[in-house]
Amino acid sequence: MRDNYGRTIEYLRISVTDRCNLRCIHCMPEGGVDLMRHEDILSYEEIAAVAAEAAKLGVRKIRLTGGEPLVRPHLHRLVALLKEIPGIETVVLTTNAVLLKDQLPDLQAAGLDGVNISLNAMDRASYRAFTGRDLFDPAREGLLIALDAPQLRVKVNCVPTKGREEQLLQLAELSRDTRASVRFIELMPIGMGAALQGIAKKELLELFHNAFGEPELVEGAHSIAGPAEYVRFPGFQSDIGFISAVSYRFCEDCNRIRLTADGKLKSCLAFPAGEDVKEILRKGGTQQDIKDAIVLCIQNKPEHHLFGLQKTEEDRLMSQIGG
Ligand code: SAM
Ligand code: SF4
Repeated sequence: MRDNYGRTIEYLRISVTDRCNLRCIHCMPEGGVDLMRHEDILSYEEIAAVAAEAAKLGVRKIRLTGGEPLVRPHLHRLVALLKEIPGIETVVLTTNAVLLKDQLPDLQAAGLDGVNISLNAMDRASYRAFTGRDLFDPAREGLLIALDAPQLRVKVNCVPTKGREEQLLQLAELSRDTRASVRFIELMPIGMGAALQGIAKKELLELFHNAFGEPELVEGAHSIAGPAEYVRFPGFQSDIGFISAVSYRFCEDCNRIRLTADGKLKSCLAFPAGEDVKEILRKGGTQQDIKDAIVLCIQNKPEHHLFGLQKTEEDRLMSQIGG
């Protein structure tokens, strides 16, 4: 379906939980967050019912996120339900990979197409400083297992912050040494991120240029991944991507809507949640009612986010607003 600005909406991001096993400095406070009540979280069947209506409206790709999606038990069950929906071509996961090693076989058997692994440090001490938890080893194992999994698309996501340049260089080296494309995602002024200083693409490119040589721009690559710019350094196996949502506003290409763990539709990360599909589902609404809610969400999609111009969702955490 097209929205009022002519954008085709074909990508649904689903947050399956607001809970997490890490406390990354740009995302979640050490004390955690006011957690949603279990009974307010959509069941896998409810999520699949919403996804099925979204698919009828043209959604082809689904990303599962959170909080940390793998802390929710039996996530592979949801993957299997989603993969059965006619029209859904791709189901992928964004995860910190701490719990991936044990779950990957079931997830792959259920049809998972790819993982984006969020990794912001390359040694135990730096990982602990960034995430608040001593879990570098399982996260690294999760990444290695994913890289070994045939047919699984693997990307590494990193949010660059000031003072960690040495770690960023080591993370970039993953694109040299493995098949994973590493993407540097600009820090957004959301939740804990608002108090940190990010690093702009230009500065990062300079850092990498000095370390790895002259990069080549990779035209047209990774189009399904959305608005990212990719380069490749000499001798590297994979590309390095830059996603700069705040400084290079790419809202005109935005193709996504979101579903929060407690069943609210969101047409933009930066705007408050809208239609409550949990209410519809639990008050005996029909599939048509859900479809109508999704249509309304798409019709209400704002032209662009207002990060940096006006306060919108900036006081809330990424895990609370749909990852
Ligand atoms: N726990 C999973 C993970 O870390 O991949 C999925 C949820 S997490 C909220 C999804 C992504 O949002 C992660 O890559 C994380 O780095 C990113 N994120 C969180 N807060 C952010 C912020 N303020 N600016 C930019 N990205 C942020
Ligand atoms: Fe958890 Fe992901 Fe946020 Fe880190 S970025 S605290 S892993 S939800």
